Amino acid sequence: MTRPILARIEPAAFRHNYLLARQQAGGARAWAVVKANAYGHGLLSCAEAVRDCVDGFALLEIGEAMRLRAAGFTQPIVLLEGFFAEDDLRLAAANAISSAIHCEEQLRLLELAELEAPLDVFIKLNTGMNRLGFVPERLPEVLARLRASGKTGQISVMTHFACADGTGIDEQLARFNAVAEPTGLPRSVANSAALLRYPHATYDWVRPGIMLYGGSPMPDMQSAADLGLRPVMTLASRIIGVQNLRSGDCVGYGASFTADRPMRVGTVACGYADGYPRHAPTGTPILVNGQRTRTLGRVSMDMLACDLTGLDAGLGSSVTLWGEGMPADEVATAAGTVSYELFCALAQRVPVVEG
Ligand SMILES: *Cc1c(COP(=O)(O)O)cnc(C)c1O
Repeated sequence: MTRPILARIEPAAFRHNYLLARQQAGGARAWAVVKANAYGHGLLSCAEAVRDCVDGFALLEIGEAMRLRAAGFTQPIVLLEGFFAEDDLRLAAANAISSAIHCEEQLRLLELAELEAPLDVFIKLNTGMNRLGFVPERLPEVLARLRASGKTGQISVMTHFACADGTGIDEQLARFNAVAEPTGLPRSVANSAALLRYPHATYDWVRPGIMLYGGSPMPDMQSAADLGLRPVMTLASRIIGVQNLRSGDCVGYGASFTADRPMRVGTVACGYADGYPRHAPTGTPILVNGQRTRTLGRVSMDMLACDLTGLDAGLGSSVTLWGEGMPADEVATAAGTVSYELFCALAQRVPVVEG
């Protein structure tokens, strides 16, 4: 028998979430953001699920973009951080892969490159996130240089919001539109949170990521279920040990949990080496044999403990760490993180199955 942990990926749920995002986008086209191996879900499983309906894909590495082209995807693909070297740039142009362009170095590479075909570019403006992008005042100059280079096809303008899931986008959007709107070029600004909260700013291309995987981009305001999203990844395992504790007995490394009464404790085959957050404290929700309970003590490398007291469960019982029946957002919140990180941290050693 193999170790019972498993990540089940539900392509139909990914498709459902994508169609919901696209509906929310109104007339805008929607890139499925599939960076980081589709947020840990598997690039090709997710891409296949939307093959016949997706407007395009957004990701980071030219190699991942080429995997999509090799699998027969002919839709637009955009590199969200742009190209890192001239080779990437030539490969992108030759394979109709569009690219963000966010700094002087990329602009120079493009001006000097010899390309097989014109490159579609998205000029990325820094409107307040202060991560990537040209200062907005440079847009006219950057645009003029791109046009003069003769290397570009369609030119669009994009930016990224720092607080779409919180205090809002007004200031950044105003800074963006002050320079982008007069150009009349296509615009792209919205991630999942902005798409769901600010339908007036969907423009030409939206960039939903986390919502496609069934995570809420603002779990403190609206749950994924409230938003109509379905979980795509279910991390499942089983109880592989049961211990009966007396009052005063402790659980796990550091003996950080002490029973205050007789308890039954289950040991789950899942630990931080599987991608479960080590910082999840006692009380993090977990589903055992369909019943909601809590984790106990410290998460180990390969195992964690949960409370089986009073539950209909025992050795071999099924466990859902997150996914169907146990929202990843709840686990993430308990562990002081976001569902993005849980999904992306899924470890290589966990077998992934579809359906
Ligand atoms: C990751 C990313 C997105 C998607 O963000 P979500 O919050 O997952 O919807 C959109 N745009 C850019 C530039 C990104 O890097």
